[in-house]
Parts: sequence; structure tokens; C-alpha cells
Amino acid sequence: MRANETIAAISTPFGAGAIGIVRMTGPRALDICHRLFRPAGGGDLADAPSHTLHYGHIVDPATGESVDEVLVAVMRAPATYTREDIAEINCHGGPVAQRKILSLLLDEGAVLASPGEFTRRAFVNGRIDLVQAESVAQVVSARTEAGLRVAMAQLEGSLSREIAAVRRSLLGVLASLEAGIDFADEDIDDVDRDDAGKRLQEQAGRLRELIDSAFVGRVLSEGVRTAIVGKPNVGKSSLLNALLMRERAIVTEMPGTTRDTIEEIINIEGVPLRLIDTAGLRNSEDAAERAGIDRSRRAIREADLVLCLFDGSEREDDHDRALINTVPAERTIFVVNKSDLFRGRRPSFNLGLLPAEPVLVSALTRQGLSELKGLIAGRVLGGEIPAPASPVVTHERHKRLLEEALAAVERTLQGLRVGLGDEILAEEVRAAIVSLGEITGEEVVEDLLDTIFRQFCIGK
Ligand code: GDP
Repeated sequence: MRANETIAAISTPFGAGAIGIVRMTGPRALDICHRLFRPAGGGDLADAPSHTLHYGHIVDPATGESVDEVLVAVMRAPATYTREDIAEINCHGGPVAQRKILSLLLDEGAVLASPGEFTRRAFVNGRIDLVQAESVAQVVSARTEAGLRVAMAQLEGSLSREIAAVRRSLLGVLASLEAGIDFADEDIDDVDRDDAGKRLQEQAGRLRELIDSAFVGRVLSEGVRTAIVGKPNVGKSSLLNALLMRERAIVTEMPGTTRDTIEEIINIEGVPLRLIDTAGLRNSEDAAERAGIDRSRRAIREADLVLCLFDGSEREDDHDRALINTVPAERTIFVVNKSDLFRGRRPSFNLGLLPAEPVLVSALTRQGLSELKGLIAGRVLGGEIPAPASPVVTHERHKRLLEEALAAVERTLQGLRVGLGDEILAEEVRAAIVSLGEITGEEVVEDLLDTIFRQFCIGK
């Protein structure tokens, strides 16, 4: 770490925009800015009160030339993003102006920030814990509104508080076990052991709940991975478009034309679906089409939910039968399309072949679509979306560490049952505490921080 350095970066996305922000944090942030900034109304940036905005120009000291017309935000430690002094230069959004300003800051002694370094400082300086720091990246990259809500709740500390509470309780158990070790000569108090067992059971329950929330967490932040499969021309693109309610995939009369996997997120009664429209599942001589078919097999494997589509206006064939045998029934909703062509009559397709009751729809007339949506929402999450404030695990890293902590707690409980000594039990409880501390950042090594913050963009 280079805590004494002042770091700078362009914080707005690359490319031309109306406004660009060049951000600087560290002990010399205001001083460096002061050297380059000529305020329109005179005065001195070095004397400016915290959280004020100043209009003026950035001037190249080498030439005396004005580089850009800017607004400078002055924020003094400790009530800032990083808990250090921060200067934010709001300039025109062209890449040249932003880069020129950044290079002037570097000339004056700032160093280029690495990815996530602003947020890393917020963590290192104790403003936020590691879970909150990680949620910053998640807020920025949220792909669904539900995912954004979960990330915001995490940023505000909902998951951190729950983990800290479990950790505190385990520290209490550890303290009583260690007291037992210190006074090993005296009789072991069975009441204490019962009490420790009760508390460990309780914490194991809380850990299990958090681990269980991970599926919901992934679904909310990334969407339910949904594959629409069926042989060519059954209406996969049409159904996708009907669900998206706009023309996204290209619909054609030619069999086998939806070759590319198209990904879109749609909101079905609060459940975000990440749709993967795939090429038809059938044996094909055509190499490009075969690649598409390989992809749809893969999509079925990776999907949380499969929408398996048939053309109800035609008799089933070998392709349909092969597909029925390929899809995993427990994750599949069977959809029979083109109901407008057999309205009031029995479909030509033999519904008896399907392992579950299908939904009859028409992608063309939208008949049956709301029933299909209801079924999708019901199938995923049992239709329940967790309350926004309840802690939800969204990171694989957190889930893995929670599982490690739970395993250690369970080993302690087992040890209690068979009457293992306090010392061994204390060791297990300590392991659980360390795992939880790694989640929130009480126990971390630099390597881990490097890995986490590398995933951020520069300037965050
Ligand atoms: P895909 O190859 O499975 O993606 O099928 P498409 O969505 O490209 O549809 C193939 C053909 O079936 C197109 O001509 C669509 O207009 C037609 N089609 C799709 N859904 C329906 C429907 O519900 N009713 C009728 N009558 N035609 C449909």
C-alpha cells in the first residue's frame, strides 16, 4: 500500500461525454489542485471550506495556457469517500481534456490510481468493510433493479451486520471455552457446555440461512439463466420477442436461422430472467448450425430454467422426442406454441408425450402469455422476492467462506456431543471466526485485497 501518496484517475467512462470527472485523493490532493487551478472569482483553494464547489480554469503551469473550464469540488477529510482529502475536477467530457488534466496532476506529484484504489482506501481507512467495498462494484455493474436493491442494501451494511452478529456470538463461545482451558484443574461446568451448544446451534442456523440466500442473491443480481429451446421454426424467436415486447431477435421463415445466442434480461413479475435464445436442437450437417446446437445443449446444462417449445399445429417428430429426452424435467416448463392455429380444436402435437402439463401459447396473438409468465414466476423462488433489507449473499467468495464457517461450527457441535476437550473445540470455533472475518475484512491478506480490487474499474 502507498497510503501516503496522493492518487488520481479519470472517474467517468472512457470516451466523449458532456462532463468528465478527474478525481484525486490523498494528503496533497488539495495542494496539487490549488497549483493548477485559477478560480474565476479569485481566492485560494487551499483555504476553501469542505464540501464547496469552485468555478474557474485549469492552467498548464509550463505555458500559462488555460486547458479547460472546470468546477472543482473540495472535500476535506474525514467526511469523504476515502476519509482523506478529495478534489474532484468536473471538466468537459472530451478524452483529450480529461487526459491533459490528469497528466498535469501527475506532473505535480500525484500518482495514477490502480483499479478500485479509491474504494480500497475507503476500506483501509475503516469507512466501510470488505463486503461493503465489494458491493460498490456490484452497484456499478447491477444488471437488474432487484440486483441494484440487493447491492445497495449490502453497501449500507445489511449483510455485514448479520455476519458481525454471528461472529460476535462465536467470540463469546470461544471466550468461555478458553476460560475452561485456563481453569482446567477445576471441574468442567456442564451447564456452560450446554449453553455453548445452544449458542452454536443458533449461529449454525443463521449461517445456513445466509448460505441458502445465495441462490436468490445470484438470481436477483444476475437474473435467472433461462434457455428457450426447440427445433427450428417452432417459434423460439417469436416467443422471445413476445416476452421482450419488442423486436430483438430476427424472425424468419427459414428453418435454423437463429444461430447466435442472444442474451436479454426481462422482468417477469419482479423476477429477472436472463434469456438465452438458442439454435434449434436437431441433427445438422451445417457446421455453423451444429455449433449453435452445441451451444443450446450447453445452455440447457447451465440454465436455471428451460422453456421447451413445440409447434402445436404440427405432429411431433423424432427431433421433438429427442428434445423431450434431453431436457431436465425438474427445471423445464413445456410450452406448446401456435395455439392460434388450433384454437378450439385439439393440437396436432401429442401432448401426452410430455412429462408435465404444458402451457399452450401463441407468440403471435400473445394468447396464454400471462399464464406462462405466472408459471415462470411461481417456478423460480416460489414466486417470492425477499424483502429488500434482508441480508442476501451475492458473492461466491462470501458463500464459500460462510460454508467453511458453518462446517467448523458443525464440527464443534459434533465435538461437544462426543465430549472432546475445550482446546480442540476452541480451535474449531476460532476457524469459524477467521472465515467470517475474511468475509468482512477483519482478517485479510494483501493478496486477497489485490484480487478483489483488481476487478474494479480505474477511478472507482
Ligand atoms: P424459431 O426458429 O424457433 O426461432 O421460430 P421463429 O420465431 O423464427 O418462427 C418461425 C415461424 O413461425 C415464423 O414465420 C413465425 O411468424 C411463425 N410463428 C411463431 N409463433 C407463432 C404463433 O404463435 N402462431 C403462428 N401462427 N405462427 C407463429
